[in-house]
Amino acid sequence: MKILLSNDDGFRAPGLVALYEALKTIAEVDVVAPEHNNSAKSNALTVSSPLYVHRADNGFRYVTGTPADCVHIALTGMLGYRPDLVVSGINNGANMGDDTIYSGTVGAAMEGYLFGIPSIAFSQVQRGWGHIEGAAQTARELVLQMQAQKLLHVAAHEAPWLLNVNIPNLPLEQLKPMKICRLGRRHAAEQVITQVDPRGETMYWIGSAGAAKDEAEGTDFFATAQGHVSVTPLKVDLTDHDGLRYWAQTAARLV
Ligand code: MN
Repeated sequence: MKILLSNDDGFRAPGLVALYEALKTIAEVDVVAPEHNNSAKSNALTVSSPLYVHRADNGFRYVTGTPADCVHIALTGMLGYRPDLVVSGINNGANMGDDTIYSGTVGAAMEGYLFGIPSIAFSQVQRGWGHIEGAAQTARELVLQMQAQKLLHVAAHEAPWLLNVNIPNLPLEQLKPMKICRLGRRHAAEQVITQVDPRGETMYWIGSAGAAKDEAEGTDFFATAQGHVSVTPLKVDLTDHDGLRYWAQTAARLV
């Protein structure tokens, strides 16, 4: 089994290192990760400047770009082979509900998915890396089970899949079994923080993500609050399929 591993917190992040250590016991793992923190970069690609790749002492490749850049260049020529699985994380903090739109962790996995490869994004619910070893073992176990169930053998003409996994910060023995969930929803983000810099210019700092608004049973918020590992299958088609008929009728009135 060959795995391409990336993240959005940067190549030195404890979540990436822990996941690498866990996955290398079951697969050949190539790490291609951003040089710096790229949280909230979503699927951004760097197209107006070149990218440079360096090797860290531990063998990880690090890239002067975004998470999606890392996966993109790895899959379009740098690796020289097609991995069986693209894994991203483990992120420092939850990627639930609306977070998935902004998340660089999800973006890296989504880039693998867009290239037709099964892909998984892993995040820990709370920031700070508490019980990261348990999270890494959980991720390893999930990948092993998927390999055993032959879910990783997706040919180029077959549909890949994309999973978003959130793991509560609990010791391994206290983690409850995984639950398949839909995404919840968050309230709008907190107010922007505004200050004046030493030279009199106004600065704006984007506020925190909002609290959960839809955390009903069945959501990722609900499952992780109960101590379960949440697993949400994602898709990329943003079409509002329910709205197609309404907009077709409305468009007829507009023209
Ligand atoms: Mn991050």
